[in-house]
Amino acid sequence: MAVNYAAGLSPYSDKGKCGLPEIFDPPEELERKVRELADLIRSSSNVVFHTGAGISTSSGIPDFRGPNGVWTMEEKGLSPKFDTTFENARPSKTHMALLGLQRVGILKFLVSQNVDGLHVRSGFPRDKLAELHGNMFVEECVKCGKQYVRDAVVGSMGLKPTGRLCSVAKARGLRACRGKLRDTILDWEDSLPDRDLMLADEACRKADLSITLGTSLQIKPSGNLPLITKKRGGKLVIVNLQATKHDRQADLRIHAYVDDVMTKLMKHLGLEVPEWTGPVVVESAELIKPEQLFKFNPGARGSLKEEPISQCNGTAGVRPDLGTMLAERRDSLKQECPSPDTGPTTAKKMKVESLLT
Ligand SMILES: [Zn+2]
Repeated sequence: MAVNYAAGLSPYSDKGKCGLPEIFDPPEELERKVRELADLIRSSSNVVFHTGAGISTSSGIPDFRGPNGVWTMEEKGLSPKFDTTFENARPSKTHMALLGLQRVGILKFLVSQNVDGLHVRSGFPRDKLAELHGNMFVEECVKCGKQYVRDAVVGSMGLKPTGRLCSVAKARGLRACRGKLRDTILDWEDSLPDRDLMLADEACRKADLSITLGTSLQIKPSGNLPLITKKRGGKLVIVNLQATKHDRQADLRIHAYVDDVMTKLMKHLGLEVPEWTGPVVVESAELIKPEQLFKFNPGARGSLKEEPISQCNGTAGVRPDLGTMLAERRDSLKQECPSPDTGPTTAKKMKVESLLT
């Protein structure tokens, strides 16, 4: 792969519980549980999904704490195995099912800890998605906040300069911003991106059902966000092969491959899993019209240009309504606690919490 994510991060001694045994529900139990999940979804009005690295293993990208996870292998002195590059990875059935659920209005918001960019490349609308730990394909301007979604990984990690400059035209088109661009990938203890954390926090507050897929929920504050829904009277469903930090809080736990669960779930709901036809970037759920879908030009693959890819490439920095909302919410978030059991200052930083089972 072009960039080894794990090797790009600083050393960090406590990576959490790794390599826990995988649990598989027997077939009849799995059927019953997925039916129960479908019923829960039908009786909920605001469903939020949370995804972790476990949803990308079938795309060839290793997870962190599974039997062959990046940190599990590191503990054994071994290197993780990547079956693909980030650029060549295809969204899994789970990625596409989530897109299908969003399109029919069942999924209201998606919170992801994944940096592999597969949600965005699957065509999932960016305004319904919080990428709490960054995205390997996204770089942003330190001056104006404009984000650029590239068709190849941006080449650095840990919020470092990528060597390119912002090309946003200033007022009256006089000259470009020329601010330095940096990657969006968090290192340990880095603060989570304000916009994404705020949107995720708000979505979890509004939700009456939070469903987690393929995450051991050991990284905070991301792993604690689903508990906000629970604390406010909503329900929590955890889908993961291994035990998770919040198993005791769950109304329903499903131990099976996420692709199996999502495929069965879509059948129960009478929905199709959309086909993936190549990487696309969709900025807003409102903009899903063929002419506004940007398809990457295969000929341009691997090349990085300074130009934003299309008009679909705008972000928080250029949306005044969202900008106002962020400014208004910023102060209140400082007071509020994004996770139910920790204070806001520490909770904003990416850390591991010990796993209690
Ligand atoms: Zn700029």
